[in-house]
Amino acid sequence: MVKRLVVVGGDAAGGSAASQARKRDPGLDVVMFERGRATSYSACGIPYWIGGAVDSEAQLIARTPEQHRAAGIDVRMRTEVVGVDLDRRVVHWRELDGDGQGREPFDDLVLATGSVPMRPPVPGIDAEGVHGVQVLDDGVALREQLSREGVRRVVVVGGGYIGLEIAEACRVRGLDVTVVDLSATPIGTFDPDVGALIADAVRREGIRLVLSDPVTAIEVDRTGRARAVLTRSGLELPADVVVLGLGVRPDVRLAREAGVPLGTSGGIAVDARMRTEAEGVWAAGDCVESRHRLSGQRVVVALGTHANKQGRVAGINIGGGYATFPGVIGTAITKICSLEAARTGLSSEEAELAGYSFVTAAVESTTKAGYFPGAQPIRVKMIAERRSGRLLGAQVIGDAGSAKRIDALAICIWNEMTVDEVLSLDLSYAPPFSPVWDPVLIAARKAFEAVEEDIRGLL
Ligand SMILES: Cc1cc2nc3c(=O)[nH]c(=O)nc-3n(C[C@H](O)[C@H](O)[C@H](O)COP(=O)(O)OP(=O)(O)OC[C@H]3O[C@@H](n4cnc5c(N)ncnc54)[C@H](O)[C@@H]3O)c2cc1C
Repeated sequence: MVKRLVVVGGDAAGGSAASQARKRDPGLDVVMFERGRATSYSACGIPYWIGGAVDSEAQLIARTPEQHRAAGIDVRMRTEVVGVDLDRRVVHWRELDGDGQGREPFDDLVLATGSVPMRPPVPGIDAEGVHGVQVLDDGVALREQLSREGVRRVVVVGGGYIGLEIAEACRVRGLDVTVVDLSATPIGTFDPDVGALIADAVRREGIRLVLSDPVTAIEVDRTGRARAVLTRSGLELPADVVVLGLGVRPDVRLAREAGVPLGTSGGIAVDARMRTEAEGVWAAGDCVESRHRLSGQRVVVALGTHANKQGRVAGINIGGGYATFPGVIGTAITKICSLEAARTGLSSEEAELAGYSFVTAAVESTTKAGYFPGAQPIRVKMIAERRSGRLLGAQVIGDAGSAKRIDALAICIWNEMTVDEVLSLDLSYAPPFSPVWDPVLIAARKAFEAVEEDIRGLL
């Protein structure tokens, strides 16, 4: 008898799972439900499309529904799965552009529902003109709003990386932009000293940054449209458009209602093969939690890089192969105005919460040999375990050519290397690419000295 796989969500995780499963088992019936207007798109590219660096929405789509169909996947667009019945092994769906509704039986089910933007519980947060950005359709709606005549002022609530990327895109469009955040520095996943440099770069771009000031309400006009953002310190920030940049939470509604167990961090609990605890039910992407390889904790890290890999792993396993997702170490990269910023491993705060005792070291250097034309400033910070010197975390910030250096450090952390081992690495060198001591090696040297000094203090 032909087996049927039903996939809920047709972007990074769902699209990868469906494609892999079908490729591995060409006899498998695969039905993929997507409530939006696009499949396999790059949400990561939305800020660059809004800002004009990318010309068209079509460029953000890696695989259209037609391409998926050509590969043997029965794609149901603008169709939302509204419930999962694990006993009868069916999903219930409804069409969003018509009255159609029905049931689809499954042998295996993949939940790849992604995440939803966080909304602070303040009055006016659901008003018209308040935009979360998660799926491509959100990007389309926001871009339309920003293009409306008379739109001049944008307030971004929350200084996470998505909020800042959108803020920059709005600034590039010539709009007045304010970002408001309750923390003292933006992008809380970086240490505050790195966050302060990000704040400087944002301000240099002409974006107003209001920090340490929580939003208390969104004021709404008589038509029900957002008109200003109010803060605890008494600021009234006029807004034609409000964007939420507070991060996201996993969309686990279907899983929770169906009785698929969630994990300690609120994402769907999965094992390394992306199996949930419910028989024949798999999950992947932003909606699941992963194992952090350093802290040992279960964490929700909503990144496309994980969603694609996890979807692939689920698809291989469903298609009869064997694959595992080995966990995450918190590697992330972004471009904030003129600066590139990246991190891997644990931040100082995360290391403390995970119970590590550590030292930190930070160095300023240049992206190329100091004398070479175009050399730009770069700062590398390292967090190393006391005594053992194991590299626990790293953060890199600087001008063009800085941030991708994080990948070398991610490999070091993945392989549990000490800063002593890192500083001896055979890394490449020529003046157009780095100083003779690459900034990551200088940082490792300084971190090694900090570990040594700390040990001397213990003797
Ligand atoms: C502006 C922005 C910038 C980003 N930049 C980066 C970056 O630089 N690097 C990086 O690694 N990550 C980045 N991300 C994160 C990345 O886009 C996500 O981690 C990734 O898209 C998650 O993929 P997913 O398939 O798990 O979920 P999603 O992409 O959210 O896809 C889930 C899909 O499921 C559909 N769906 C949900 N529920 C149902 C239902 N009940 N029925 C039918 N369909 C349903 C949704 O419509 C959606 O299309 C960015 C995200 C945004 C929004």
